[in-house]
Amino acid sequence: MSIIAVVGGGITGLALAHRLRARGKDAVVLEAENRLGGNIRSWSREGFVLEAGPNSFLDKEPATRELAADVGVEELIRTADPAAKARYLYTRGRLRSVPLSPPAFLKSDLLPLGARLRVVAELFTARAPEGVDESLAAFGRRHLGARATEVLLDAVQTGIYAGNVELLSVGATFPQLTKLEREHRSLILGAIRTQKAQRKALPAGAGASEKLRGALCTFEGGMQALVEGLTRALGPAGHTGAKVEGLQPGSGGWRLSVREHGRQAELLASRVVLATPAYVTAGLVRPLDEKLSALVEGIAYAPIAVVHLGFERGSTPAPDGFGFLVPSLEQRRLLGAIHASTVFPFRAPGGGVLYTCMVGGARRPELVGLDEEALVALAREELKELAGVTASPLFTEVIRWKRGIPQYNVGHLERVSAIDAALARLPGLHLAGNAYHGVGINDCIRNAFALGDTLAS
Ligand SMILES: Cc1cc2nc3c(=O)[nH]c(=O)nc-3n(C[C@H](O)[C@H](O)[C@H](O)COP(=O)(O)OP(=O)(O)OC[C@H]3O[C@@H](n4cnc5c(N)ncnc54)[C@H](O)[C@@H]3O)c2cc1C
Repeated sequence: MSIIAVVGGGITGLALAHRLRARGKDAVVLEAENRLGGNIRSWSREGFVLEAGPNSFLDKEPATRELAADVGVEELIRTADPAAKARYLYTRGRLRSVPLSPPAFLKSDLLPLGARLRVVAELFTARAPEGVDESLAAFGRRHLGARATEVLLDAVQTGIYAGNVELLSVGATFPQLTKLEREHRSLILGAIRTQKAQRKALPAGAGASEKLRGALCTFEGGMQALVEGLTRALGPAGHTGAKVEGLQPGSGGWRLSVREHGRQAELLASRVVLATPAYVTAGLVRPLDEKLSALVEGIAYAPIAVVHLGFERGSTPAPDGFGFLVPSLEQRRLLGAIHASTVFPFRAPGGGVLYTCMVGGARRPELVGLDEEALVALAREELKELAGVTASPLFTEVIRWKRGIPQYNVGHLERVSAIDAALARLPGLHLAGNAYHGVGINDCIRNAFALGDTLAS
């Protein structure tokens, strides 16, 4: 009975089971759906490569590289085209490019002059009192001023969390910012000093700053390539169509009730890791500890709809840059769009153009409930008004995530500590996944590896 049961076959569960097996443990994945991968799903249409969830990751997390190499897909990693370097924000009536250096920021018209000068005054910001969990907006207003918060910080968080800047916790969503404040008081001073120290540590020459930031990457054939590699590596240890419906502590371990391909079954495991979304985890732990269940259930999710618009070569100009984001003060219906075929040209065959639009989020959750036709019409209208795209697409695809991205709102860090304290009273039960310590693919893999190493030792 030394099986470790990993419930949920998203990237967290898969990376964890893989790590455990590499460390000699008998780990199995139980995944409710008929495929592994969770949020990660890629497919092709008319030769275009489409993503249901994540599009890319920054190549700066050693665990992600290690995992890709382990499962034989490292050679499928593709770096973004240099044309994708530019980024845009829609503000004050048009798309404006985001300056990539402090002098360029001072000269740019992204913010009005007064707001740019207020950002420079960040140098004189006082430290926040210890132990206060501030919202991203409160932190931003203190450091950068109201306008930069509404335009820049709001857009940056939208690109990751699709959240509400007034609700998200700065410490939970951007711990690097609170760290800079703690260590240097001013973010600008801290950033300059940190960069200097990092540059010293890296060998000089081309590509040094790229190494620091991490190059934007994906897999040829889509993010799914990583899941396919993991599926092959796990072999029969990756069970699909296996929904875990309950768990109970038993003698020396845990008894799981599993509905596998319609049949009820039981699995005895020495340890259980729930790598399921928080709202599923809350239901599974409710009979064990009501308080723990309530804590987990309190992690909100933002819904998000992904609308792909694929255009034939020549029907619309290839857009410049990675894409654009729309700050909420603009009151538009689009959160932003990725210029998917500019970032990764192999995603659109023969010079086609692929826009991947994001709709909804914590800002406009009701829009995710629109039917597909309405979502396509919305995306086309918004692309026309914001980016001047008037051509008719060759095809469209809509993916709706009713509970897409976990929201680390104010209180999240305290909540996670309370969850850990409650888990300490349930030996052999562990929680993992994007609801707790980071939503990015890199976070999920790094945290899965760390948990795997702890459980294996
Ligand atoms: C639209 C969108 C775009 C994104 N873009 C990016 C991006 O570009 N870059 C990036 O780094 N991150 C991105 N993310 C975030 C990232 O994709 C996710 O955080 C990550 O994939 C989550 O992985 P996970 O394994 O923790 O959870 P999930 O992928 O949610 O996996 C959980 C699994 O548990 C299974 N499950 C549920 N209930 C049960 C049960 N009772 N029994 C067994 N199994 C069960 C589910 O079917 C699912 O497969 C994006 C997310 C979304 C939604």
